[in-house]
Amino acid sequence: MNFTSTRSAQNMTSAAAITRGIAADGGLFVPCEFPELSYAKLLELADMDYIGRAKEVLKLYLTDYTEDEIDYCVRGAYTNTFDNNIPAPLAEVAPGTEMLELWHGPTCAFKDMALQLLPFLLVKAANKTAPGRTIVILVATSGDTGKAALAGFADVPNTRIVVFFPENGVSDMQKLQMITQVGSNVSVCGIEGNFDDAQSGVKKIFTDDAIRSTLDKMNMEFSSANSINFGRLVPQIVYYVSAACDLIKAGKLAAGSKFNVAVPTGNFGDILAAYYAKQMGVPIDKLICASNRNKVLSDFLATGVYDRNREFYTTSSPSMDILISSNLERMIYHAAGNDAVLTARLMKELSEKGRYELPADVLAKLQSEFFGGYCDEQGTAGTISKLFKENNYLADTHTAVAANVLEQYRKATGDQTLTVVASTASPYKFAASVLPALTDAAIPENGFEQLELLSKLSNTPIPAPLAGLKGCEVLHKNCIAKDNMAEFVLNFLK
Ligand SMILES: *Cc1c(COP(=O)(O)O)cnc(C)c1O
Repeated sequence: MNFTSTRSAQNMTSAAAITRGIAADGGLFVPCEFPELSYAKLLELADMDYIGRAKEVLKLYLTDYTEDEIDYCVRGAYTNTFDNNIPAPLAEVAPGTEMLELWHGPTCAFKDMALQLLPFLLVKAANKTAPGRTIVILVATSGDTGKAALAGFADVPNTRIVVFFPENGVSDMQKLQMITQVGSNVSVCGIEGNFDDAQSGVKKIFTDDAIRSTLDKMNMEFSSANSINFGRLVPQIVYYVSAACDLIKAGKLAAGSKFNVAVPTGNFGDILAAYYAKQMGVPIDKLICASNRNKVLSDFLATGVYDRNREFYTTSSPSMDILISSNLERMIYHAAGNDAVLTARLMKELSEKGRYELPADVLAKLQSEFFGGYCDEQGTAGTISKLFKENNYLADTHTAVAANVLEQYRKATGDQTLTVVASTASPYKFAASVLPALTDAAIPENGFEQLELLSKLSNTPIPAPLAGLKGCEVLHKNCIAKDNMAEFVLNFLK
């Protein structure tokens, strides 16, 4: 399996694509073809546990890793790190609607699914492509990636990690998770700005030749743990495969029938993984792309015009507060028939004007695969409340956005196909926003009292990783202007 860039023809191994994170031309690495997963193979996988399924999927993409290496990486990532050793269980909320719960890992959000595995993949990849070098991970986070990456990379030999987050753009619990992170190789820093500022700043550092050569002299090199890294995409494909297996096993997905997926979307990584699974042969029909009030994606899917020149809103689903959806670049490349010239031109327009328009045929292709919709703050709260009262299901704000848009889709189309909703965070991570949807009582100011109240109201346990934050020392107190990110990184590495 070879990898190329979305912006020019290249020929890379998966190890090179994973170590570099982003292509030298600024594009993203994509597989040159999609490996096939037949229904017979799915039946075989249905009898395996998550680790077995993950190994089989990874093997198809990471052909330059040995089977032993893949076995080591997957076992390391998914053994004793997720509740009951079941990383991605399905929970039926109503007949025909299944929640794919991706938040049973160490940081209580779906980013763990990929970021528990990425450090293993990256260290093996670096051993192949850059032996003896220290890998420096730079992360821009809208909240969940940061902590998940820190948890994955803390004290991993030959790695350093720097995480930037929007100082006022993440939930209290998300912030506390990050600024209390221990580890001799970690650094965490707030940015005066929003997520897009943090992401643009990181991209700028990555592509700055002077900084790269400074690192080179220190025998270091950058890599990315953001969802632009193919090493994050491939673990995400696994849970859609696994969901299909579980549906087959439960007798809910017969041979020849399909299911839809509904995904709360920000950077387009999670839903892109579903698209990849579909290309491989997983029987997925419609991909329902759900946005919050920052609805740049649902506008794009409706009109073909991507326009980031708009107001940025801070919402109760902060991990989706994004106006530049990085992984969409991969989707455009594929939808345009692997057209790197077109993709490069559109991405140039995006960076210069903040706007581009898709050719009509590419838009038609996207619209045949995706349904785009959005849900505002009131709709999010209403959906949390409804799911809890009618279905006895406690959803977080992000998951609620997807459930709401799914309902809109069903009303608009009459399509009642079995649907898997990506449930992306524990409701406890966003207790301050979830609680008002459940009760009229006053919400306590203190984050830990909020957890207690949520537990009492819902009769569910507080996840141990969140309860355990109580009393942890704050270790990272920096907050800097967005123009000072490069300086901050170099200071840390010295
Ligand atoms: C990151 C995140 C999302 C968005 O996922 P993308 O891959 O960026 O589209 C949704 N929900 C939660 C809880 C997240 O952390």
